[in-house]
Amino acid sequence: MPLRSDWSQRTCSMARGLDILGDPWSVLVLREVFFGNGRFDAMKARLEVADSVLTKRLAGLVESGLLEKKAYDDGGRTRQEYVLTPMGEDALPVLNAVTIWAEKHLPAPSAQAHLYVIHTGCGKPTTSADTCTWCGERLTAANTSWHSRSRSEQPIPLSTASGKEPAA
Ligand SMILES: [Zn+2]
Repeated sequence: MPLRSDWSQRTCSMARGLDILGDPWSVLVLREVFFGNGRFDAMKARLEVADSVLTKRLAGLVESGLLEKKAYDDGGRTRQEYVLTPMGEDALPVLNAVTIWAEKHLPAPSAQAHLYVIHTGCGKPTTSADTCTWCGERLTAANTSWHSRSRSEQPIPLSTASGKEPAA
């Protein structure tokens, strides 16, 4: 059941993109997968979301081609986790832009509530969604970390579509 009317056939590419990336839960699910947190129970715990809401967003992101399921061994049991596809990884600048814009304009309710976009190469926070504003390098998931003190004292290197942990 769709969340609302289908915008996937709109003539404007911004509207077609927002059909997928305009949904807050879907974007937060992508955030979790970029953080390497692609297992259902762990995502559910972090997002504090109902099973039905998470199930629907995951199915939508798989159907749209941004995520895919990958098997992993859970103590002898095979289970599924969600990983980024190249299409999903390409959404990184969108998530970065929303974050950078919010850091600039919206007050954070606590010191733990910030999220900074870090270029892993030079270790500096950037104020541009797709380029490091310190050294000019183009940002990809392989060279970007996100720093949220609610998760870790250190920036966390992002997951990539290949599923490999990038070298810091
Ligand atoms: Zn840099």
